[in-house]
Amino acid sequence: MPAMKKALPTLPMHPAAKAAKPEAPPCDQCTALCCRYFALQLDTPEDREDFDSIRWYLLHGKSWIWVDAGDWYLQVDEPCRFLGPKNECTIYDKRPQICRDYGLPEHREHPEDPLCDYFSRDQRHDLEFREPHELDVWVEKYLAEREEKRKKRSAAAKRAWAKKRRAERRGAGASV
Ligand code: SF4
Ligand code: SF4
Repeated sequence: MPAMKKALPTLPMHPAAKAAKPEAPPCDQCTALCCRYFALQLDTPEDREDFDSIRWYLLHGKSWIWVDAGDWYLQVDEPCRFLGPKNECTIYDKRPQICRDYGLPEHREHPEDPLCDYFSRDQRHDLEFREPHELDVWVEKYLAEREEKRKKRSAAAKRAWAKKRRAERRGAGASV
């Protein structure tokens, strides 16, 4: 199996990865999982218009959104059209560079060393949205909380400004 480098989902370690021999990558024990989707990083959404665009992605089948460390990704779970019936790459000599780069290292010194990114990640995403309504619910909560924080910050700034003005007036009165 050729190697691929993509924006990757975080998944529990695959049993095949745990059983893989240290000296070999697990591609020969894998059903080409990395050739069955692609993912792209998105601009971080900031307002309703941005979130509405992301919602549009979710209206399409096989697409979902995940977020890690504040970075937003669109993933489409659709196999590469050049993946063969035996999980082989049918354009191996002409496969894209991203496919060539992925899946390192070729040799591991220790069974616990990572295999490919796909297998080695063991945590869930910070956020995942599979359906438009899941995003809708999250966005409403997120925007409400953000607005609440903005109001609190604004109120605190006004109090600080009023306190400073009072102190300045007291200082001016004392010097007369
Ligand atoms: S790089 Fe990873 S996901 Fe891709 S075929 Fe090899 S083991 Fe499977
Ligand atoms: S071009 Fe080959 S290696 Fe790349 S995703 Fe398609 S089948 Fe996999």
